[in-house]
Amino acid sequence: MKISFKKAFTLGVLAFVCHTAYGKTITYDTDLAVVGGGSVGLAAAVTGAEAGLHVIVLEKNPYLGGSSNFAEGLFAVESDYQRGKSYGLTKDQAYEHIMEYSHFNNNAALEREFVDESADNLRWLNKFGVEFNVVQISPKEPQTWHLIQTRQQWVHGAALVTALQTAAQKDGVKFMMRTPAQSLIYEKGRVSGVRAKDHKGNDVVINAKAVIIGTGGFGNSPEKINEWTHFDGKAFRPTLPLNKTGDGIQMGRDVGAAHEGETLMLHPGTQGKGIVPLGNIYTMTWQPANIWVNAHGDRFVDETVAFSFAHAGNAIGRQKDHYAWAIFDQAELDHAKNDGIDNGVGVLVPVMTKLSNIDNEIKNALAVNSESFKQANNIEQLAKEISVPVKNLKQAYESYNYAAKTHYDEAFNKDRVWLHPIDNGKLYAVKLMPYHFTSVGGLRINPKMEVVNTDDAPIKGLYAGGNDVAGLYSDTYTLWASGHAFGFATYSGRKAAQNAINEIKSGK
Ligand SMILES: Cc1cc2nc3c(=O)[nH]c(=O)nc-3n(C[C@H](O)[C@H](O)[C@H](O)COP(=O)(O)OP(=O)(O)OC[C@H]3O[C@@H](n4cnc5c(N)ncnc54)[C@H](O)[C@@H]3O)c2cc1C
Repeated sequence: MKISFKKAFTLGVLAFVCHTAYGKTITYDTDLAVVGGGSVGLAAAVTGAEAGLHVIVLEKNPYLGGSSNFAEGLFAVESDYQRGKSYGLTKDQAYEHIMEYSHFNNNAALEREFVDESADNLRWLNKFGVEFNVVQISPKEPQTWHLIQTRQQWVHGAALVTALQTAAQKDGVKFMMRTPAQSLIYEKGRVSGVRAKDHKGNDVVINAKAVIIGTGGFGNSPEKINEWTHFDGKAFRPTLPLNKTGDGIQMGRDVGAAHEGETLMLHPGTQGKGIVPLGNIYTMTWQPANIWVNAHGDRFVDETVAFSFAHAGNAIGRQKDHYAWAIFDQAELDHAKNDGIDNGVGVLVPVMTKLSNIDNEIKNALAVNSESFKQANNIEQLAKEISVPVKNLKQAYESYNYAAKTHYDEAFNKDRVWLHPIDNGKLYAVKLMPYHFTSVGGLRINPKMEVVNTDDAPIKGLYAGGNDVAGLYSDTYTLWASGHAFGFATYSGRKAAQNAINEIKSGK
């Protein structure tokens, strides 16, 4: 065995390289090891580096940012942006509402601090050139969604990710890409580092005074979804293939961390032959004037639930075999094509977008006999196309059209504004399935972002945030506080680092 010693890239970080017959073990000594280069990890890294700590970030993917690249807006209340619009929602009101929504099944102290500091969180991001515009995510929710403004060539969350990445690099943070963390080093009752494997197959050992976990949850592992939640990991699919497989949560659990509240942030969607992800057919599934029927051909909900994507995901997910059909007629299709959509898919497909490519997409979907898109000349034919009992579908269709004509939906009290008759021209059906933007829940933490064990005692040296932690939601993500997940991710990364800095400086 040959041991060499070299100075690492980052000032003050030492790397020992130990060659063995099976590859190298590379050892680093640092102050702060950050696991995951999403918004938790980047906010933690910048905060640590600003305070003069030596920081190493381990990232599993060849790129930074995880789902933070795609997210659009952050929650905040009493923000400068809301004040600028004379929007008067208060911290107390927001906190009370979130607690009620969660049935007090969340960590009240953690939630309170997050709500109270949410506006300051945006001010901190402003320092790096991240700017916002506050909007309502849907007509049913208040204005808490602070949309990230385009910065240089970067849009949505990528603008925030690249701004923090630039700041971190300037402050000397060392990034190790394609180097997934595998386990925590736990000795003498405290976490003192992390083990990883780099893309060349080398073992990486990072000895650190504190470790912050932000690996973004377990949404891309059907196995973990089956094991940790009540959902079927095959039927409830992730929005994007982001390689987030619960690594950080597992690593925490392996050293005795308590865990709780594992669930999914659901939303409706569709996929299948000839269906373009986030394309025009996909976008039709989010429209409030559709009629939704389940595998029995029965209507099952007020379809304006589409305005609250998490609720819509719940409603679809609990139907037989976890799917439904969104049905609309030619008139609704023409409205979306010519006037624009009534409900945006976030701002990935903004409200009022004109679905100008829908005829092409329909042509393509029909040409490949898509299992998820069907067209018919009448309701009997449509029932056959989507394999539901004709009698039930006819009943659902006729009573819906009657409700539309009388402006009262006896079945589900759908708002008459969206209760349009579906009897004009061709009929279309798109298969609706439950997807999830991310998992939520995981490691149990306290308001200092310290990971705690089953006695609620902090595991020394270990912090976590974002989608890897629990205590924020009950069974369903609160869209009322839209942007909560992304706002919390950046906030929790900062907060974890601030407390780690205090711990390191106090020498405890
Ligand atoms: C399309 C989309 C839109 C969204 N829009 C919004 C929105 O507008 N508002 C909102 O509040 N939320 C939104 N969300 C959710 C939001 O993106 C997340 O809550 C937030 O970004 C989580 O940040 P994070 O740092 O916890 O995880 P991530 O940003 O996903 O970062 C985790 C990182 O850890 C890395 N990693 C994983 N395992 C390891 C390992 N073993 N070792 C090292 N690194 C590892 C991953 O590769 C990733 O880079 C959206 C999600 C999606 C998919």
